[in-house]
Amino acid sequence: MGLDIIVGIKYVPNTTNVNIDPKTGTLVREGVPSVVNPHDLVAVELALRLRDRYGGSVTAISMAPPHAVAGLEHVLGMGVDRAILVSDRVFAGADTLATSYVLAKTIEKIGRYDLIVMGQETIDSSTGHIGAQVASWLDLPYVYYAIDVEYTGDGFIVTRELEDRVERYRLAKPALISAKMYSLEPRQVTLRDKLRAVIERPIETWSNKDLGLDPNCVGLRGSPTIVSKVEFTPKVPRKNIIFEGDLREAVRKLVQALVEEGVI
Ligand SMILES: Cc1cc2nc3c(=O)[nH]c(=O)nc-3n(C[C@H](O)[C@H](O)[C@H](O)COP(=O)(O)OP(=O)(O)OC[C@H]3O[C@@H](n4cnc5c(N)ncnc54)[C@H](O)[C@@H]3O)c2cc1C
Repeated sequence: MGLDIIVGIKYVPNTTNVNIDPKTGTLVREGVPSVVNPHDLVAVELALRLRDRYGGSVTAISMAPPHAVAGLEHVLGMGVDRAILVSDRVFAGADTLATSYVLAKTIEKIGRYDLIVMGQETIDSSTGHIGAQVASWLDLPYVYYAIDVEYTGDGFIVTRELEDRVERYRLAKPALISAKMYSLEPRQVTLRDKLRAVIERPIETWSNKDLGLDPNCVGLRGSPTIVSKVEFTPKVPRKNIIFEGDLREAVRKLVQALVEEGVI
């Protein structure tokens, strides 16, 4: 009984390096390196472990501009079987509703799937909407904060971890889960893994010609929410203290400083 899994990944600016344009309040993306959203790597890792346990396949999908092929190359290097970039100018400026609609229609077009795995949230917008919205478009059972999945043939037993308890759910298939962030260590990828993977399994690109969606339901035109104004960009004060010298002494000073700051 193979398990066909679809994973959603988003290629995001590496926010530790992101600057905000003080005039427009928008992200300055130029020159900012992008990465696969780290919480999506947890989703990919979970999907790959399930495939390895039960057989089947893992397909990664991403709705993004063309530069996101680099993100799909990364997950192909991790071992994903198929990667689809969904990219069209008409999808640009999407809010979460329009994004989830395109992803749901992409999944419908893929057709055969038992399980969809999403990350918990992204590090650039971090709404955590997309999993629930895709489940809603496709009328699927949905569990978030999932840390483990057992496949029973006709469905899944999903373990989810909340702050104060662990719960188990029985879901009929097909189903959608969001993997809890930091619940698994994603595998490392070498350049050789990536190169071999992209030659063996070239990335497919689908545009709106392939999906045939009404332009009024996607991108900016299909987005009912608009960020009208960013009032302020929070400033994070930093002291930039460097503890130099002997390692033990530097660590002792660091701990002392953290105690004095009330951090620990
Ligand atoms: C009001 C509003 C207005 C916005 N306007 C714009 C805008 O004008 N321009 C703009 O660029 N962005 C805009 N955004 C951001 C845009 O909506 C999000 O980038 C996108 O909808 C995904 O939401 P998220 O990053 O919060 O994902 P989350 O809901 O936090 O993501 C959860 C999971 O869903 C999956 N996922 C998320 N996005 C994708 C994707 N694209 N492909 C595949 N899987 C995915 C991943 O597994 C991810 O971990 C806006 C957002 C809001 C709320």
